Amino acid sequence: MSYQEPAPIKNQENPFESMMSRFDEAARILGLDKNSYNVLKSPAKTVIVSLPVIMDDGTVQVFEGYRVVHSQAMGPSKGGIRYSMDVHLDEVKALAAWMTWKCAVVGIPYGGGKGGIKCDPRSMSKGELERLTRAYTGAMRDVFGPEKDIPAPDMNTGPQEMAWLMDEYSKIQGLYTPAVTTGKPLVLGGSSGRVEATGRGVMVTARAAMGKLGINPMEATCAVQGFGNVGSISAKLIQLQGLKIVAISDITGGYYDPKGIDIEAAIAYRNQNGGTLEGFNAESRITNEEILELDVDVLVPAAMEDQITKHNAAKIKAKLIVEGANGPTSANADLILNENNVMVVPDILANAGGVTVSYFEWVQNKIGYYWTEERVHRRADRTMKQAFEEVYAASQKYGTSLRIAAYIVAIDKVSKALAYRGVF
Ligand code: NAD
Repeated sequence: MSYQEPAPIKNQENPFESMMSRFDEAARILGLDKNSYNVLKSPAKTVIVSLPVIMDDGTVQVFEGYRVVHSQAMGPSKGGIRYSMDVHLDEVKALAAWMTWKCAVVGIPYGGGKGGIKCDPRSMSKGELERLTRAYTGAMRDVFGPEKDIPAPDMNTGPQEMAWLMDEYSKIQGLYTPAVTTGKPLVLGGSSGRVEATGRGVMVTARAAMGKLGINPMEATCAVQGFGNVGSISAKLIQLQGLKIVAISDITGGYYDPKGIDIEAAIAYRNQNGGTLEGFNAESRITNEEILELDVDVLVPAAMEDQITKHNAAKIKAKLIVEGANGPTSANADLILNENNVMVVPDILANAGGVTVSYFEWVQNKIGYYWTEERVHRRADRTMKQAFEEVYAASQKYGTSLRIAAYIVAIDKVSKALAYRGVF
């Protein structure tokens, strides 16, 4: 029995619904059987916990924490933990599924998961955050595990939270267990190369896509939206490939110079300027909307979701979009970009360099031997290049965009794993 119901693109712009509508389309093209379809639509496990925390003023506040395991068909589930007042279970479920596809598309042996705690980390002291993280880890002691479910940092969490999580888990087990999480500080089993990993993967997939389109990097121009970890490192590494970066932007707006921007100088400026580009000296200022519509060869949205929608997709002039951010392009915008022959390297492929090096961190923790940065880069580059070629071949075979091809590659792998394991 094949899943053949038509899966029209819904008329919405929500990034998570957009993601699920692409899942539907890829499932239909692949002829995914109804049983596998139903399994993959539903998260395998949803855990909700109440976390009592003694606050600095002596009162007890109870926080709500979530962990969703979408799939463990390919291996232990992997995915970040976010701390935010905006954390919602439905969103966590969608993000967990997203991780399943992202891991499968780059061929790392993980399923997908995601977690979060509804809290306002900026209003909490370091001690309160530590107690909250330890409470969450204790509550999730039977969910987490190096062979079960492996968290990582996400919005408002970082190496410090991962260090607390690893420490608490190790204490509960009575066993030093660094592989229970990734994104740890270097001195506690973090991996060299992790900070650069996502931007590096963006550069590698951009290069591969330029090769397919016949774009000569030495003559090409590029604009990068967002200048945080992903945007600034993508811009730096893409510039090193010979492209001229004519515009960059962050929350303070866009900075444009047709002669090209010195990215190293912009990074140094940002680092000395409280983390933003405000006041950076460029030929002219543009908006975050205008940067997307510049006449460039390559566009890298690396800020946030939902930037390219049906409202501006027709105005995009770039020949190639490489999605550093998660969910920057809506499903409706995809239809317009496809029509206009704009190649889009989708998020689940383009920004998977981060989770790839997280996998390398876990491998190094398990073997207890640590690789040089050069080895991490080389292996991650190879993984990203191979994943791009596999997705490109699928797009040729099925006559689809790279996005739908990436979902096809991912869903095909996960559904085969499900079938071999005999879940039903
Ligand atoms: P970051 O916080 O380091 O940087 C975000 C950047 O976007 C900052 O320069 C910020 O000023 C800018 N920004 C914020 N709001 C903006 C707005 N309204 N308009 C324009 N710019 C705005 O975050 P990051 O780690 O670089 O992540 C960026 C994106 O990449 C997110 O979608 C994230 O989910 C995705 N991503 C990150 C990683 C990773 O390893 N860091 C991996 C995969 C995907």
